[in-house]
Order: sequence, then C-alpha cells, then structure tokens
Amino acid sequence: MRFVYAWTARAKCLGEPVQVFDAETVRRNGGTKLARKLCAGCPVMRECAQFALDTDAVAVVQAGVILGSKPSLDKSPTRKKLRLIASGDMAA
Ligand code: SF4
Repeated sequence: MRFVYAWTARAKCLGEPVQVFDAETVRRNGGTKLARKLCAGCPVMRECAQFALDTDAVAVVQAGVILGSKPSLDKSPTRKKLRLIASGDMAA
C-alpha cells in the first residue's frame, strides 16, 4: 500500500474507523481527556500536528487536540498548542 504522506503508515490510528476521531463524538464522550487518550503514544504526533496546521483541519481530533470549526482553529489557543506539539516542545 502506498501512502500520500509516508508518516501516516506509522500512525497509531491507522485502520481505526474515522468516526472515532470525530470532534463532536469525542466531545460528547470525554472531551479533551479522550482526545489525548486516542492519540497517546502515537509515534507521529508531531507530523500529525503539523498536518493539521497546514491543512486547517476541522471537526476531528488530531495530535490529541480537538479541532472544532475553522474559526476556533484560527484562534490562538488551539493553533498555539498544535505548533508546540509540531515543534516537539509539548506532548498532547
Ligand atoms: S496523533 Fe492521533 S490522529 Fe494523529 S496520527 Fe497519531 S493517533 Fe492518528
């Protein structure tokens, strides 16, 4: 199998149903604590955080962060957290 982004081949969530990472589902079932648990120990968390920043990902959990609607992603707390994770200065 060939991956568009090579790092995704090492993702902890590879093969998981996408619904598991749906932002609203995660919010209803544990919020930030669940988001962190889903991504805990993922070997490509930094790449995932950078991907979220590059693509303005919304409505999903990436790098242990719940990404809401686009406006919230653009606001500093979420973006700042993703930048820190992407730089390796902070785990989710
Ligand atoms: S950090 Fe989370 S969403 Fe990103 S690749 Fe890893 S398990 Fe998947």
